[in-house]
Amino acid sequence: MEIIRIPRIMREITKNLKIKSKSIGFVPTMGALHEGHLSLIRRAKDENDVTVVSIFVNPTQFAEGEDFEKYPRDTEGDKEKLQKIGIDYLFLPEATSLYPQGYSTYVNVEGLSDKLCGKFRPGHFQGVATIVCKLFNLIRPNRAYFGQKDYQQILIIQKMIEDLNFDIELIPCPTIRDEDGLAMSSRNAYLNEKERKAATVIYTTLREGERLLKEGLKPKEVKEKMIEILRSEPLVTEIQYAGVYDPLTLEEVSEKQAKYLLAIAVKINNTRLIDNFLVY
Ligand code: AMP
Repeated sequence: MEIIRIPRIMREITKNLKIKSKSIGFVPTMGALHEGHLSLIRRAKDENDVTVVSIFVNPTQFAEGEDFEKYPRDTEGDKEKLQKIGIDYLFLPEATSLYPQGYSTYVNVEGLSDKLCGKFRPGHFQGVATIVCKLFNLIRPNRAYFGQKDYQQILIIQKMIEDLNFDIELIPCPTIRDEDGLAMSSRNAYLNEKERKAATVIYTTLREGERLLKEGLKPKEVKEKMIEILRSEPLVTEIQYAGVYDPLTLEEVSEKQAKYLLAIAVKINNTRLIDNFLVY
């Protein structure tokens, strides 16, 4: 595994791979790697000649007052995990090399970016779209792998790929969970024992929401039931959103339809956690 820190060098490497017609699989991450990340990386490795993973805690996707400074970082542990899987390149840029002084260009995917998480994290998806756009230009992957845990992110990146004419296939990958159902997340490291236990209410609520939808309850009733379950957990200190949404537009759904997105964002004390189910 080669570690590349300088964007210009990363670009040279991928340019040469392109000349040799090698297919490139790319997994962008913010590090503190867990099984969720590793499942994407293994898949990228299986499906491409060359695998590139980036680790970059992207400052532009954190709003004022969010957890950028304390976001978990474990570069040495991450390197070991990646070495073990046997990826080809780890791209590990410095913030100043991607956003030098005077940097002034941002990508904004209108509409989708204002829904769900966008309402509570101003500028978040602009930061995400901008960094992914930059990484796509540097790495020029054939396929890019994203986790369904961040469902809204997938929709936004897919829209950016189409609107900006990237020749990249986005591969959505299933959410990897702990045994009790909690979706793996680097932010789970913030939870103490009690909070970690309380966090399972997110999964329980999604399961129950799915069951009720399949039983034929109306989306509005399902939403009410979901909120009731979340409220029953005292350590859920804030429900940012919970309910039944259209999987393409992310608009709240009130009538029955063929496919639904059940989605939740809550705070367990100070830790913000999200999860979702697609229901057919
Ligand atoms: P992050 O480091 O949180 O930016 O995540 C990097 C990529 O890993 C994103 O595409 C996430 O959706 C994906 N990811 C994070 N957690 C999981 C999980 N539990 N299962 C599957 N993919 C995940």
